[in-house]
Amino acid sequence: MNSTNRTFAGIDIGGTNIKFGLFDQQGKVLHKEHRSTMAEKGPEALLHLVANIAERLLFFAADEELEVKSLGIGTPGAVDFRTGQVIGTCPNIKGWQGTQIGQALRERLNMPVFVDNDVNCMAVAESKFGAATGGGTTICLTLGTGVGGAILFDGKLYRGANYSAGELGHISIDHNGRLCNCGNKGCLEVYVSSKAIVANVKALLGDDMGSIFKRVLEGEIENLNIRKIFAAFRSGDEAATRVLGETASYVATALSGVVNLLNPNRVVIGGGVAEGDNGFVAMIEREIRERAFDSATDGMIVVRAALGNDAGFIGAGLLGEMTS
Ligand SMILES: [Zn+2]
Repeated sequence: MNSTNRTFAGIDIGGTNIKFGLFDQQGKVLHKEHRSTMAEKGPEALLHLVANIAERLLFFAADEELEVKSLGIGTPGAVDFRTGQVIGTCPNIKGWQGTQIGQALRERLNMPVFVDNDVNCMAVAESKFGAATGGGTTICLTLGTGVGGAILFDGKLYRGANYSAGELGHISIDHNGRLCNCGNKGCLEVYVSSKAIVANVKALLGDDMGSIFKRVLEGEIENLNIRKIFAAFRSGDEAATRVLGETASYVATALSGVVNLLNPNRVVIGGGVAEGDNGFVAMIEREIRERAFDSATDGMIVVRAALGNDAGFIGAGLLGEMTS
């Protein structure tokens, strides 16, 4: 088999689903699947499930005569990249902190296994095949159930002294603000997670939904979710526009500090919330430009992530490549 025909294998562990697949060196997805994470069954069951998925993926590749040299895994929480151990907390997967993913899978599969934080993986994928190609300094922010971040210098991940860099969701935007799960006050995540956005729209609507939301929700406010809020936003609903405007403003407040600190070439916004609308990303960009130094935003671009749900397993699959 020649070296121009390499295949990459990645697994992206999320709080709800595990996505996994194979892709070629042009980033073309050759195979992908997903499974429920079933985090409630505990860390040992999850590690077992991930190992089974890895074997399945590698058997499939072998069957198709695809050459896979290493396996990559993305997971929530900070990860010691040398060992593949989860060292950070993972609120969505109870008991996952401390899990030796890398060691367990290397022993079981007898091949190189690389493990990193899920947002770091997303950033790697975007830098290779998506919205962050071209090197330079990139800031990635993901907006979803949680708010994550990653930093790339010259196209390479900056992991920090103890693999904990890039936690953009835990930049405080209010020194005496609401208490965050991490123990700090006023963290960005508390104000802009999908849960916070839904709660803010509900609070604003109260008993009076207005005609657009009545139509979008078919009368049931319990059906409210991010997708429906963006649908109402695109139809010009006042409450949706106001809440998403405030959300963009919170995000821009945190990011303008990061932009002043690092003077990046680009900011990439991903995650379920950002997938909703280009207009939302444009609002964030506008306000970063208002708040940050002109010299720091001159030539900088703010873009939506390009690879969507596949970014996690693609970036994981590239981890081995990025280290060599
Ligand atoms: Zn926090």
